[in-house]
Amino acid sequence: MNKNNVTRRQFIRAASAGTIAAVASRTIPVYGNPGKKASKLAVRGGKPVRTKPWPSWPVWDKSAEKSVLSILRSGNWFRGRGETVLEFEKKYAELMGAKRCVCTVNGTNALLTALHVLDIGVGDEVIVSPYTFIATYNVVIGSAALPVFVDTDPETFQINPDKIEERINKNTKAIMPVHILGLPANMDRINAIAKKHNLVVIEDACQAWLAEWRGKKCGTLGDLGCFSFQNSKHLPCGEGGAVIGDDEEIMDKCFSYHNCGRPHGSVEETSRYPIIGTNRRMTEYQAAILLSQIKRLETDTRTRNENAHYLTSKIKGIPGIITHKLYGGVTRAAYHLYPFRYKKQHFNNVPRGKFLAALSAEGIPCSGGYGPQYKDGLIEAALNSNNFKRSFSKRRLDRYRQELHYPDNDQLCKEAVWLSQKLLLASKRDMDDIADAIVKIYQNRDRLA
Ligand SMILES: *Cc1c(COP(=O)(O)O)cnc(C)c1O
Repeated sequence: MNKNNVTRRQFIRAASAGTIAAVASRTIPVYGNPGKKASKLAVRGGKPVRTKPWPSWPVWDKSAEKSVLSILRSGNWFRGRGETVLEFEKKYAELMGAKRCVCTVNGTNALLTALHVLDIGVGDEVIVSPYTFIATYNVVIGSAALPVFVDTDPETFQINPDKIEERINKNTKAIMPVHILGLPANMDRINAIAKKHNLVVIEDACQAWLAEWRGKKCGTLGDLGCFSFQNSKHLPCGEGGAVIGDDEEIMDKCFSYHNCGRPHGSVEETSRYPIIGTNRRMTEYQAAILLSQIKRLETDTRTRNENAHYLTSKIKGIPGIITHKLYGGVTRAAYHLYPFRYKKQHFNNVPRGKFLAALSAEGIPCSGGYGPQYKDGLIEAALNSNNFKRSFSKRRLDRYRQELHYPDNDQLCKEAVWLSQKLLLASKRDMDDIADAIVKIYQNRDRLA
Protein backbone atom coordinates (compact mmCIF):
# COMPACT_ATOMS: atom_id res chain seq x y z
CA MET A 1 0.00 0.00 0.00
CA ASN A 2 2.81 2.35 0.98
CA LYS A 3 4.63 1.55 -2.19
CA ASN A 4 1.50 2.32 -4.19
CA ASN A 5 1.21 5.66 -2.49
CA VAL A 6 4.70 6.58 -3.49
CA THR A 7 4.05 5.66 -7.08
CA ARG A 8 0.85 7.64 -7.08
CA ARG A 9 2.66 10.68 -5.79
CA GLN A 10 5.32 10.29 -8.45
CA PHE A 11 2.57 9.91 -10.96
CA ILE A 12 0.71 13.04 -9.88
CA ARG A 13 3.95 14.98 -9.93
CA ALA A 14 4.68 13.78 -13.42
CA ALA A 15 1.16 14.51 -14.58
CA SER A 16 0.98 18.01 -13.23
CA ALA A 17 4.55 18.76 -14.28
CA GLY A 18 3.62 18.61 -17.88
CA THR A 19 2.25 16.63 -20.72
CA ILE A 20 0.70 13.23 -20.93
CA ALA A 21 3.68 12.24 -23.02
CA ALA A 22 5.89 12.83 -20.01
CA VAL A 23 3.60 10.67 -17.93
CA ALA A 24 3.56 7.96 -20.54
CA SER A 25 7.31 7.87 -20.96
CA ARG A 26 8.32 8.17 -17.33
CA THR A 27 5.61 6.95 -15.07
CA ILE A 28 3.43 4.38 -16.74
CA PRO A 29 6.12 1.70 -17.10
CA VAL A 30 6.87 2.02 -13.39
CA TYR A 31 3.44 0.97 -12.22
CA GLY A 32 1.56 -0.18 -15.23
CA ASN A 33 3.36 -3.47 -14.70
CA PRO A 34 0.88 -6.05 -16.00
CA GLY A 35 2.29 -8.86 -13.87
CA LYS A 36 1.73 -6.98 -10.67
CA LYS A 37 -1.22 -8.52 -8.87
CA ALA A 38 -1.94 -5.59 -6.57
CA SER A 39 -2.68 -3.33 -9.49
CA LYS A 40 -5.15 -5.63 -11.24
CA LEU A 41 -8.50 -3.89 -11.57
CA ALA A 42 -11.29 -5.09 -9.29
CA VAL A 43 -13.64 -5.33 -12.31
CA ARG A 44 -11.11 -7.78 -13.76
CA GLY A 45 -11.02 -9.84 -10.57
CA GLY A 46 -8.27 -7.91 -8.78
CA LYS A 47 -8.26 -6.75 -5.19
CA PRO A 48 -10.36 -3.60 -4.71
CA VAL A 49 -8.59 -0.48 -3.43
CA ARG A 50 -11.21 -0.37 -0.70
CA THR A 51 -13.55 -2.81 1.01
CA LYS A 52 -14.28 -0.73 4.10
CA PRO A 53 -17.83 0.67 4.06
CA TRP A 54 -18.52 4.39 3.69
CA PRO A 55 -20.51 6.42 6.23
CA SER A 56 -24.25 5.83 6.02
CA TRP A 57 -26.92 8.49 5.84
CA PRO A 58 -28.96 9.81 7.62
CA VAL A 59 -27.31 9.82 11.02
CA TRP A 60 -29.36 10.39 14.16
CA ASP A 61 -29.08 10.28 17.93
CA LYS A 62 -31.31 9.80 20.97
CA SER A 63 -32.17 13.49 21.17
CA ALA A 64 -34.70 13.06 18.36
CA GLU A 65 -36.33 9.99 19.95
CA LYS A 66 -37.42 11.86 23.03
CA SER A 67 -39.05 14.77 21.24
CA VAL A 68 -40.72 12.68 18.55
CA LEU A 69 -42.17 10.40 21.21
CA SER A 70 -43.39 13.26 23.34
CA ILE A 71 -45.17 14.79 20.35
CA LEU A 72 -46.75 11.41 19.62
CA ARG A 73 -47.97 11.09 23.20
CA SER A 74 -49.33 14.65 23.30
CA GLY A 75 -51.70 14.11 20.38
CA ASN A 76 -50.67 17.56 19.07
CA TRP A 77 -49.28 16.46 15.78
CA PHE A 78 -49.96 19.44 13.55
CA ARG A 79 -48.46 22.91 13.86
CA GLY A 80 -51.75 24.49 14.89
CA ARG A 81 -51.51 22.63 18.19
CA GLY A 82 -47.78 22.75 18.84
CA GLU A 83 -44.73 24.99 18.87
CA THR A 84 -42.15 22.71 17.26
CA VAL A 85 -42.49 23.86 13.63
CA LEU A 86 -42.43 27.48 14.77
CA GLU A 87 -39.32 26.85 16.84
CA PHE A 88 -37.53 25.30 13.88
CA GLU A 89 -38.60 28.11 11.54
CA LYS A 90 -37.09 30.68 13.90
CA LYS A 91 -33.88 28.69 14.24
CA TYR A 92 -33.51 28.09 10.51
CA ALA A 93 -34.19 31.74 9.59
CA GLU A 94 -31.56 32.80 12.11
CA LEU A 95 -29.02 30.29 10.85
CA MET A 96 -29.60 31.43 7.27
CA GLY A 97 -29.53 35.13 8.08
CA ALA A 98 -33.07 35.59 6.74
CA LYS A 99 -35.87 37.49 8.46
CA ARG A 100 -38.44 34.79 8.02
CA CYS A 101 -38.95 31.11 7.28
CA VAL A 102 -42.10 29.13 6.47
CA CYS A 103 -41.76 25.36 6.54
CA THR A 104 -43.57 23.18 4.02
CA VAL A 105 -44.22 19.48 3.49
CA ASN A 106 -41.25 19.21 1.12
CA GLY A 107 -38.94 21.15 -1.19
CA THR A 108 -41.14 20.78 -4.26
CA ASN A 109 -43.97 22.49 -2.39
CA ALA A 110 -41.63 25.16 -1.07
CA LEU A 111 -40.81 26.04 -4.70
CA LEU A 112 -44.48 25.94 -5.72
CA THR A 113 -45.33 28.25 -2.82
CA ALA A 114 -42.58 30.71 -3.78
CA LEU A 115 -43.75 30.79 -7.41
CA HIS A 116 -47.36 31.32 -6.30
CA VAL A 117 -46.75 34.16 -3.85
CA LEU A 118 -44.55 35.96 -6.38
CA ASP A 119 -47.48 35.68 -8.79
CA ILE A 120 -45.78 33.54 -11.41
CA GLY A 121 -48.22 31.49 -13.43
CA VAL A 122 -50.10 31.10 -16.67
CA GLY A 123 -48.30 32.56 -19.67
CA ASP A 124 -45.14 33.50 -17.76
CA GLU A 125 -41.66 32.30 -18.57
CA VAL A 126 -39.13 31.23 -15.96
CA ILE A 127 -35.42 30.94 -16.65
CA VAL A 128 -33.98 27.67 -15.28
CA SER A 129 -31.02 25.38 -15.70
CA PRO A 130 -31.59 22.04 -17.43
CA TYR A 131 -28.95 20.50 -15.14
CA THR A 132 -31.06 19.95 -12.03
CA PHE A 133 -33.29 17.56 -10.17
CA ILE A 134 -36.55 17.07 -12.05
CA ALA A 135 -38.54 18.92 -9.36
CA THR A 136 -37.20 22.24 -10.72
CA TYR A 137 -38.79 21.45 -14.10
CA ASN A 138 -41.98 20.16 -12.49
CA VAL A 139 -42.74 23.20 -10.36
CA VAL A 140 -42.51 25.61 -13.29
CA ILE A 141 -44.68 23.39 -15.50
CA GLY A 142 -47.02 22.77 -12.55
CA SER A 143 -47.48 26.54 -12.25
CA ALA A 144 -48.49 26.62 -15.95
CA ALA A 145 -45.39 28.68 -16.74
CA LEU A 146 -42.83 27.87 -19.42
CA PRO A 147 -39.44 26.63 -18.18
CA VAL A 148 -36.92 28.40 -20.42
CA PHE A 149 -33.61 26.62 -20.20
CA VAL A 150 -30.20 28.22 -20.35
CA ASP A 151 -27.20 26.08 -21.22
CA THR A 152 -24.93 24.80 -18.46
CA ASP A 153 -21.43 26.03 -17.66
CA PRO A 154 -19.57 22.71 -17.76
CA GLU A 155 -16.74 23.96 -15.55
CA THR A 156 -19.02 24.77 -12.63
CA PHE A 157 -22.04 22.55 -13.47
CA GLN A 158 -24.24 25.67 -12.97
CA ILE A 159 -26.43 27.81 -15.23
CA ASN A 160 -24.18 29.74 -17.65
CA PRO A 161 -24.68 33.43 -16.83
CA ASP A 162 -23.35 34.50 -20.26
CA LYS A 163 -26.33 32.83 -21.92
CA ILE A 164 -29.18 34.07 -19.73
CA GLU A 165 -29.96 37.39 -21.38
CA GLU A 166 -30.54 35.96 -24.85
CA ARG A 167 -33.45 33.93 -23.39
CA ILE A 168 -35.25 36.89 -21.84
CA ASN A 169 -38.34 38.36 -23.52
CA LYS A 170 -41.43 40.32 -22.45
CA ASN A 171 -43.02 37.23 -20.88
CA THR A 172 -40.02 36.41 -18.69
CA LYS A 173 -40.94 36.92 -15.03
CA ALA A 174 -38.33 35.09 -13.00
CA ILE A 175 -34.93 33.50 -12.88
CA MET A 176 -34.78 30.34 -10.80
CA PRO A 177 -31.10 29.62 -10.20
CA VAL A 178 -30.38 26.19 -8.76
CA HIS A 179 -27.23 25.82 -6.66
CA ILE A 180 -26.91 22.38 -8.07
CA LEU A 181 -24.83 19.74 -6.26
CA GLY A 182 -24.62 22.30 -3.45
CA LEU A 183 -22.21 24.50 -5.43
CA PRO A 184 -23.37 28.12 -5.67
CA ALA A 185 -24.50 29.56 -9.01
CA ASN A 186 -23.01 32.90 -10.12
CA MET A 187 -25.33 35.11 -8.08
CA ASP A 188 -23.60 38.44 -8.87
CA ARG A 189 -24.33 37.97 -12.56
CA ILE A 190 -27.81 36.50 -12.04
CA ASN A 191 -28.94 39.28 -9.70
CA ALA A 192 -27.55 41.97 -12.01
CA ILE A 193 -29.43 40.51 -14.99
CA ALA A 194 -32.61 40.16 -12.90
CA LYS A 195 -32.37 43.77 -11.78
CA LYS A 196 -31.78 45.05 -15.29
CA HIS A 197 -34.84 43.21 -16.65
CA ASN A 198 -37.02 43.61 -13.56
CA LEU A 199 -37.27 39.88 -12.85
CA VAL A 200 -37.75 38.11 -9.53
CA VAL A 201 -35.14 35.61 -8.36
CA ILE A 202 -36.23 32.39 -6.64
CA GLU A 203 -33.27 30.32 -5.51
CA ASP A 204 -33.67 26.57 -5.65
CA ALA A 205 -31.33 25.98 -2.72
CA CYS A 206 -32.68 22.44 -2.22
CA GLN A 207 -29.10 21.08 -2.26
CA ALA A 208 -27.32 24.08 -0.77
CA TRP A 209 -27.77 24.30 3.02
CA LEU A 210 -25.08 26.61 4.46
CA ALA A 211 -23.50 27.24 1.08
CA GLU A 212 -22.37 30.86 0.74
CA TRP A 213 -21.84 33.51 -1.89
CA ARG A 214 -19.59 36.36 -0.68
CA GLY A 215 -20.31 35.40 2.92
CA LYS A 216 -24.11 35.36 2.51
CA LYS A 217 -26.06 32.13 2.65
CA CYS A 218 -27.52 30.66 -0.50
CA GLY A 219 -31.28 31.11 -0.26
CA THR A 220 -30.93 34.71 0.95
CA LEU A 221 -29.45 36.09 -2.27
CA GLY A 222 -32.63 36.49 -4.31
CA ASP A 223 -36.25 37.34 -3.48
CA LEU A 224 -37.05 33.96 -1.95
CA GLY A 225 -34.99 30.85 -1.23
CA CYS A 226 -36.32 27.29 -1.15
CA PHE A 227 -34.93 24.27 0.68
CA SER A 228 -35.59 20.55 0.87
CA PHE A 229 -35.28 18.38 3.98
CA GLN A 230 -35.90 15.08 2.23
CA ASN A 231 -34.27 11.92 3.57
CA SER A 232 -31.12 12.14 1.43
CA LYS A 233 -30.50 15.84 2.08
CA HIS A 234 -28.01 17.33 4.54
CA LEU A 235 -30.73 18.47 6.94
CA PRO A 236 -33.17 15.58 6.63
CA CYS A 237 -36.50 14.64 8.21
CA GLY A 238 -37.90 12.23 5.61
CA GLU A 239 -39.91 14.85 3.76
CA GLY A 240 -39.76 18.55 4.46
CA GLY A 241 -39.03 21.94 2.97
CA ALA A 242 -38.85 25.65 3.66
CA VAL A 243 -39.18 29.04 2.01
CA ILE A 244 -37.04 31.82 3.44
CA GLY A 245 -37.13 35.55 2.73
CA ASP A 246 -36.85 39.08 4.10
CA ASP A 247 -40.01 40.69 2.75
CA GLU A 248 -42.54 40.56 5.59
CA GLU A 249 -45.59 40.91 3.35
CA ILE A 250 -44.47 38.20 0.95
CA MET A 251 -43.63 35.90 3.86
CA ASP A 252 -47.03 36.60 5.46
CA LYS A 253 -48.55 35.59 2.17
CA CYS A 254 -46.44 32.41 2.13
CA PHE A 255 -47.70 31.51 5.56
CA SER A 256 -51.31 32.28 4.78
CA TYR A 257 -51.18 30.44 1.44
CA HIS A 258 -49.63 27.31 2.97
CA ASN A 259 -52.26 27.37 5.71
CA CYS A 260 -55.44 27.20 3.60
CA GLY A 261 -55.51 30.99 3.04
CA ARG A 262 -56.16 31.87 6.68
CA PRO A 263 -55.19 35.37 7.84
CA HIS A 264 -51.60 35.92 8.89
CA GLY A 265 -49.89 39.25 9.66
CA SER A 266 -50.50 41.62 6.78
CA VAL A 267 -52.93 39.13 5.21
CA GLU A 268 -55.78 40.61 7.22
CA GLU A 269 -58.90 38.92 8.47
CA THR A 270 -61.32 40.39 5.95
CA SER A 271 -62.99 36.98 5.98
CA ARG A 272 -62.20 33.60 7.42
CA TYR A 273 -60.09 32.75 4.37
CA PRO A 274 -58.99 36.09 2.91
CA ILE A 275 -56.75 34.64 0.18
CA ILE A 276 -56.77 31.52 -1.96
CA GLY A 277 -54.75 28.91 -0.17
CA THR A 278 -53.63 25.34 -0.01
CA ASN A 279 -52.36 23.07 2.73
CA ARG A 280 -48.61 22.58 2.71
CA ARG A 281 -48.03 22.59 6.46
CA MET A 282 -45.15 20.70 8.01
CA THR A 283 -46.02 18.34 10.88
CA GLU A 284 -44.63 18.64 14.37
CA TYR A 285 -42.69 15.37 14.01
CA GLN A 286 -40.86 16.61 10.96
CA ALA A 287 -39.77 19.72 12.84
CA ALA A 288 -38.71 17.70 15.89
CA ILE A 289 -36.36 15.64 13.75
CA LEU A 290 -35.05 18.79 12.07
CA LEU A 291 -34.31 20.44 15.43
CA SER A 292 -32.16 17.46 16.26
CA GLN A 293 -30.53 17.25 12.80
CA ILE A 294 -29.69 20.95 12.64
CA LYS A 295 -27.16 20.46 15.45
CA ARG A 296 -24.83 18.51 13.19
CA LEU A 297 -25.22 20.56 10.00
CA GLU A 298 -22.33 22.98 10.61
CA THR A 299 -19.76 20.32 11.56
CA ASP A 300 -20.84 18.04 8.72
CA THR A 301 -20.59 20.93 6.27
CA ARG A 302 -17.09 21.73 7.47
CA THR A 303 -16.04 18.09 7.10
CA ARG A 304 -17.47 17.86 3.58
CA ASN A 305 -15.65 21.04 2.56
CA GLU A 306 -12.30 19.99 3.99
CA ASN A 307 -12.50 16.59 2.37
CA ALA A 308 -13.73 17.99 -0.95
CA HIS A 309 -10.83 20.44 -1.14
CA TYR A 310 -8.34 17.76 -0.18
CA LEU A 311 -9.77 15.35 -2.75
CA THR A 312 -9.57 18.02 -5.44
CA SER A 313 -5.90 18.58 -4.64
CA LYS A 314 -5.29 14.82 -4.95
CA ILE A 315 -7.03 14.20 -8.27
CA LYS A 316 -6.52 17.41 -10.19
CA GLY A 317 -3.31 16.27 -11.88
CA ILE A 318 -4.70 13.01 -13.26
CA PRO A 319 -4.99 13.20 -17.06
CA GLY A 320 -8.62 13.10 -18.20
CA ILE A 321 -10.00 14.05 -14.79
CA ILE A 322 -11.29 17.64 -14.83
CA THR A 323 -12.11 18.83 -11.35
CA HIS A 324 -15.06 21.20 -10.87
CA LYS A 325 -14.56 24.94 -10.61
CA LEU A 326 -16.15 27.20 -8.01
CA TYR A 327 -16.96 30.79 -9.03
CA GLY A 328 -14.87 33.54 -7.44
CA GLY A 329 -17.83 34.63 -5.29
CA VAL A 330 -18.17 31.25 -3.60
CA THR A 331 -17.08 31.50 0.02
CA ARG A 332 -18.45 28.08 0.90
CA ALA A 333 -20.03 25.14 -0.92
CA ALA A 334 -22.38 22.55 0.55
CA TYR A 335 -21.16 19.59 -1.53
CA HIS A 336 -24.37 17.63 -1.73
CA LEU A 337 -22.40 15.88 -4.43
CA TYR A 338 -18.74 15.98 -5.37
CA PRO A 339 -18.47 16.25 -9.16
CA PHE A 340 -15.71 15.98 -11.72
CA ARG A 341 -15.60 15.38 -15.47
CA TYR A 342 -14.21 12.31 -17.15
CA LYS A 343 -12.53 12.80 -20.52
CA LYS A 344 -12.41 9.39 -22.15
CA GLN A 345 -9.80 10.55 -24.71
CA HIS A 346 -7.24 10.28 -21.90
CA PHE A 347 -8.50 6.86 -20.85
CA ASN A 348 -7.92 4.94 -24.07
CA ASN A 349 -11.44 6.00 -25.18
CA VAL A 350 -13.02 3.83 -22.50
CA PRO A 351 -16.68 4.98 -22.22
CA ARG A 352 -17.72 6.64 -18.98
CA GLY A 353 -20.01 3.74 -18.09
CA LYS A 354 -17.02 1.42 -17.89
CA PHE A 355 -15.06 3.92 -15.83
CA LEU A 356 -17.98 4.20 -13.38
CA ALA A 357 -18.25 0.42 -13.13
CA ALA A 358 -14.51 0.12 -12.55
CA LEU A 359 -14.53 2.84 -9.88
CA SER A 360 -17.50 1.23 -8.11
CA ALA A 361 -15.75 -2.12 -8.19
CA GLU A 362 -12.73 -0.53 -6.49
CA GLY A 363 -15.03 0.29 -3.57
CA ILE A 364 -15.86 3.87 -4.56
CA PRO A 365 -19.63 4.25 -5.18
CA CYS A 366 -20.29 6.78 -7.94
CA SER A 367 -22.78 7.75 -10.60
CA GLY A 368 -23.03 9.61 -13.89
CA GLY A 369 -25.62 12.09 -12.58
CA TYR A 370 -28.35 13.76 -14.57
CA GLY A 371 -29.08 13.00 -18.20
CA PRO A 372 -30.39 15.59 -20.70
CA GLN A 373 -33.88 15.37 -19.15
CA TYR A 374 -35.37 18.14 -21.25
CA LYS A 375 -35.35 15.62 -24.12
CA ASP A 376 -37.17 12.94 -22.14
CA GLY A 377 -40.72 13.72 -23.28
CA LEU A 378 -41.76 15.62 -20.17
CA ILE A 379 -41.34 18.98 -21.89
CA GLU A 380 -43.06 17.84 -25.07
CA ALA A 381 -46.00 16.59 -22.97
CA ALA A 382 -46.21 19.97 -21.27
CA LEU A 383 -46.12 21.81 -24.61
CA ASN A 384 -48.97 19.62 -25.83
CA SER A 385 -51.09 20.16 -22.73
CA ASN A 386 -54.19 22.32 -22.83
CA ASN A 387 -52.67 24.59 -20.18
CA PHE A 388 -49.78 25.46 -22.45
CA LYS A 389 -51.75 25.61 -25.69
CA ARG A 390 -54.15 28.08 -24.09
CA SER A 391 -51.43 30.25 -22.52
CA PHE A 392 -48.81 30.46 -25.29
CA SER A 393 -49.15 31.14 -28.99
CA LYS A 394 -48.37 28.32 -31.40
CA ARG A 395 -45.56 30.48 -32.73
CA ARG A 396 -44.03 30.78 -29.27
CA LEU A 397 -44.21 27.05 -28.63
CA ASP A 398 -42.76 26.23 -32.05
CA ARG A 399 -39.86 28.59 -31.45
CA TYR A 400 -39.40 27.06 -27.99
CA ARG A 401 -39.10 23.60 -29.55
CA GLN A 402 -36.46 24.87 -31.97
CA GLU A 403 -34.45 26.36 -29.11
CA LEU A 404 -34.43 23.14 -27.13
CA HIS A 405 -30.74 22.37 -27.67
CA TYR A 406 -28.18 22.67 -24.91
CA PRO A 407 -24.95 21.22 -26.25
CA ASP A 408 -22.73 22.15 -23.28
CA ASN A 409 -25.26 20.58 -20.93
CA ASP A 410 -25.49 17.42 -23.03
CA GLN A 411 -21.71 17.09 -23.16
CA LEU A 412 -21.57 17.55 -19.37
CA CYS A 413 -24.24 14.85 -18.94
CA LYS A 414 -21.95 12.48 -20.85
CA GLU A 415 -18.82 13.32 -18.84
CA ALA A 416 -19.97 13.97 -15.28
CA VAL A 417 -18.99 11.72 -12.41
CA TRP A 418 -20.65 12.25 -9.04
CA LEU A 419 -19.61 11.08 -5.62
CA SER A 420 -22.20 11.23 -2.85
CA GLN A 421 -21.96 13.59 0.12
CA LYS A 422 -21.72 10.49 2.35
CA LEU A 423 -18.22 9.80 1.05
CA LEU A 424 -17.14 13.30 2.07
CA LEU A 425 -18.15 12.57 5.67
CA ALA A 426 -15.37 10.00 5.97
CA SER A 427 -11.78 10.84 6.92
CA LYS A 428 -8.97 12.42 4.94
CA ARG A 429 -7.34 8.99 4.56
CA ASP A 430 -10.54 7.73 2.99
CA MET A 431 -10.20 10.45 0.35
CA ASP A 432 -6.83 8.89 -0.51
CA ASP A 433 -8.71 5.69 -1.41
CA ILE A 434 -10.79 7.63 -3.94
CA ALA A 435 -7.68 9.18 -5.52
CA ASP A 436 -5.84 5.82 -5.47
CA ALA A 437 -8.75 4.10 -7.19
CA ILE A 438 -8.90 6.69 -9.97
CA VAL A 439 -5.14 6.50 -10.50
CA LYS A 440 -5.33 2.71 -10.59
CA ILE A 441 -7.99 2.85 -13.29
CA TYR A 442 -5.90 5.34 -15.22
CA GLN A 443 -2.90 3.03 -15.05
CA ASN A 444 -5.00 0.12 -16.26
CA ARG A 445 -6.95 2.04 -18.89
CA ASP A 446 -5.58 -0.16 -21.69
CA ARG A 447 -7.19 -3.14 -20.02
CA LEU A 448 -10.63 -1.58 -19.60
CA ALA A 449 -11.82 -1.30 -23.19
C1 LIG B 1 -34.49 17.64 -3.61
C2 LIG B 1 -34.65 18.74 -4.58
C3 LIG B 1 -35.88 19.38 -4.82
C4 LIG B 1 -37.19 18.92 -4.28
O1 LIG B 1 -37.24 18.69 -2.96
P1 LIG B 1 -38.22 17.56 -2.35
O2 LIG B 1 -38.14 17.83 -0.91
O3 LIG B 1 -37.68 16.23 -2.75
O4 LIG B 1 -39.59 17.81 -2.90
C5 LIG B 1 -35.89 20.46 -5.70
N1 LIG B 1 -34.78 20.87 -6.32
C6 LIG B 1 -33.60 20.27 -6.14
C7 LIG B 1 -32.40 20.79 -6.85
C8 LIG B 1 -33.50 19.18 -5.27
O5 LIG B 1 -32.32 18.57 -5.13
